[in-house]
Amino acid sequence: MNSTSQRVLDVIDDRVDDLVELTRDLIRFPTINPPGDAYQPCAEYIGNRLSKRGFEVEYVRAVGAPGDSDTYPRINIVARREGSKPGPCIHFNGHIDVVEVGSGWTIPPFEGLVKDGRIFGRGSCDMKGGLASAIIAVEALNDTDPDLPGTIEISGTVDEESGGYGGVAYLAERGWFSAPRVNHVIIPEPLNVDRVCIGHRGVWWAEIETKGRMAHGSMPFLGDSAIRHMGALLEHFEQKLYPILAARLSDMPVVPDGARQSTMNINSLHGGQGEEHAGLPAPCVADSCRMVIDRRFLIEESLEDVRAEIAAILEDVASSRPDFRYELREMFAVEPSISDKNGPVALATAAAIREILGVEPAIVCSPGTYDQKHIDRIGKLKDCIAYGPGVLDLAHQPDEWVGIEDMTAAAKVMSLVARRLLTRTA
Ligand SMILES: [Zn+2]
Repeated sequence: MNSTSQRVLDVIDDRVDDLVELTRDLIRFPTINPPGDAYQPCAEYIGNRLSKRGFEVEYVRAVGAPGDSDTYPRINIVARREGSKPGPCIHFNGHIDVVEVGSGWTIPPFEGLVKDGRIFGRGSCDMKGGLASAIIAVEALNDTDPDLPGTIEISGTVDEESGGYGGVAYLAERGWFSAPRVNHVIIPEPLNVDRVCIGHRGVWWAEIETKGRMAHGSMPFLGDSAIRHMGALLEHFEQKLYPILAARLSDMPVVPDGARQSTMNINSLHGGQGEEHAGLPAPCVADSCRMVIDRRFLIEESLEDVRAEIAAILEDVASSRPDFRYELREMFAVEPSISDKNGPVALATAAAIREILGVEPAIVCSPGTYDQKHIDRIGKLKDCIAYGPGVLDLAHQPDEWVGIEDMTAAAKVMSLVARRLLTRTA
């Protein structure tokens, strides 16, 4: 390692307290999505900090994006630092939104409590800890190496947890995530400090409604139960579809192991009398039953095949069951994304992990999606990975935390990767 790289690492070591305080400050903005609370002050906090360090800061409001309003503006912040000489651009992208708090917390979710080398709070792991690490990394590069060529960008974007439409997708549609502006992207999602994540599975959400006919519950033979029709469909899923999905294994290195296959979660199921009359049942045959499915698919499967598979099952049930009537409505679809594990950013990150942590990094894919899909599909930028501190399994859980040592190591890894890609040496 050359002496400048070593100096950058030393600066990061000197700034661990700053890293901790920055993370705590970010956690204190309750950027819950939905509805998209506190986006503007959080974005401005990041922008003010980076503009003081000489970064050129822009705020981009995703006007017209889902949920954007004067009460809940979708404000993204992008900071840019152009180097002494032209060269490639590396971009660090973190989402500033967090999921709802939910129940089960034993500590306050928005105070940034520090205990036993960990910072606790909603969004600490997913992914304000990672964003803070990236900020400390780019600041250390900027402050230590005025001769660094090329460009460093860092962004705090919104709405990742609800699909990224007001965040990375909005920016990508306007050229912010395409060459020649940007060449390499690291998304510091919590994929563990010693793993390089090169992509994610696809998603298909759909609602299936079975139809029946109302009748008095004492004479169900005069009606037609939508719930029994749905039961027949569920039986088909259990007997036929689930074994097929479980046998469909991927070459994608998805973690954890259980996600290295096609999966389908039944997200919700509602039939007959609604929740509003719970406890006061009326004797009726259900005329409607609705189910939402969340199908996660592999790079080896196409979205068309995933849709066709469910459509064929519905037709199959219909052919064997008189009066089976249904509607199928697509709600949401995301293609899988995978980048080259031998691409520049993946190789540089793997090398930096070996150097900083002394371990052989695992190359993995994420079970769920993240903003890489937009950078890949809309920005047409392939050299993108997720790498960041934080334990994947803790994301969205109560008492979520991120480890300070991991954040420090991740900041060092990110600084080395940037230097390598920008100087082609170090
Ligand atoms: Zn995340």
